[in-house]
Amino acid sequence: MITFRLLLICLVSSLFPALAANSFNILLYHHVADNTPASTTISPKDFEAHLAFLKENGYQVINLDEALNNVISDQPLPDKAVAITFDDGFLSIYQNAFPLLKQYGYPFTVFVATDPIDHKFPQMMTWDMLREMKQAGAIIANHTTDHAYLVRTDDYSEQWLRMTLENIHHAQKRLTTELGDVPNWIAYPYGEYNDALRKKMAEEGWIGFGQQSGGVAKFSDFTALPRFPAASSYANLATLKTKLASVPLPVDYLGLPDTVTRTSKNSLTVNLNGKLKRQNELRCYFNSNAYSPKVQSSSFTIDIQQTFKQGRDRVNCTLPHESQPIYYWFSFQWLYWPLSVKAETTQ
Ligand SMILES: [Zn+2]
Repeated sequence: MITFRLLLICLVSSLFPALAANSFNILLYHHVADNTPASTTISPKDFEAHLAFLKENGYQVINLDEALNNVISDQPLPDKAVAITFDDGFLSIYQNAFPLLKQYGYPFTVFVATDPIDHKFPQMMTWDMLREMKQAGAIIANHTTDHAYLVRTDDYSEQWLRMTLENIHHAQKRLTTELGDVPNWIAYPYGEYNDALRKKMAEEGWIGFGQQSGGVAKFSDFTALPRFPAASSYANLATLKTKLASVPLPVDYLGLPDTVTRTSKNSLTVNLNGKLKRQNELRCYFNSNAYSPKVQSSSFTIDIQQTFKQGRDRVNCTLPHESQPIYYWFSFQWLYWPLSVKAETTQ
């Protein structure tokens, strides 16, 4: 009987690799307060509503370290697994989120930029607070030394790469000195990275986190894992619950193009990991406009008809799942950073 079940699982796995791929979603927060910048804030009341929603709807909030290890080593994850992360290390996490997370018994991760803590900025946590959270089971990880824009420059020279790595390595040294062991994880400030950086991070054995949305599976790009922003306009549970229930669209994430574009008109071609059912129902959204991508046998292409504005823009795509009332999810974040005005006018 056991052998038959194993055989059946293997058969189903090989027929439907997307179904067998174990995945989980990561939520991203910044401030949890009533009086901080609206674009990165969720109120303590709404944050508690998120925690209550997760509990009441059978979500299992898991330790990000265990979740990543399970995915990488093909170990099963609990059903409806979700991890909670915070970027920056704001004081409001300690004051407002930490007590609620303890009450719910939920593990979490905080990515901190170390200079603002070293300089004792009043809106940031102190090293003592971070130590206390780490002792309570939180993971504290790297968000660079100074929270700089890492890839907003004309020339990705060797000097640029060296300085960027120094920025990340210095933060890791400060974290280790103050807190002891911390994982080799980097959350890129603003979720901005480029090919040269993600390649270097992979060489050095880092796991990277972006701010494009989506879930994590074995086929993800582990140098730029997606997270679902869950504050500000994304805090609304009516839309967040669709994202929480989603699974990552099985595509070739490692083969995605460089996120940095120098031109204001862009298209994106994404290679699929095998044939998906219902793929003509794939829909993509860019700045509230819907696009029907051109679907070929093993890829799809989205021609963005709008002109990009300088800065970040995301395209999000969804596809109804073949057997469950949920969606596959895919997101790509561009950074449109034109070359200097001088360079543009000489062309
Ligand atoms: Zn940040």
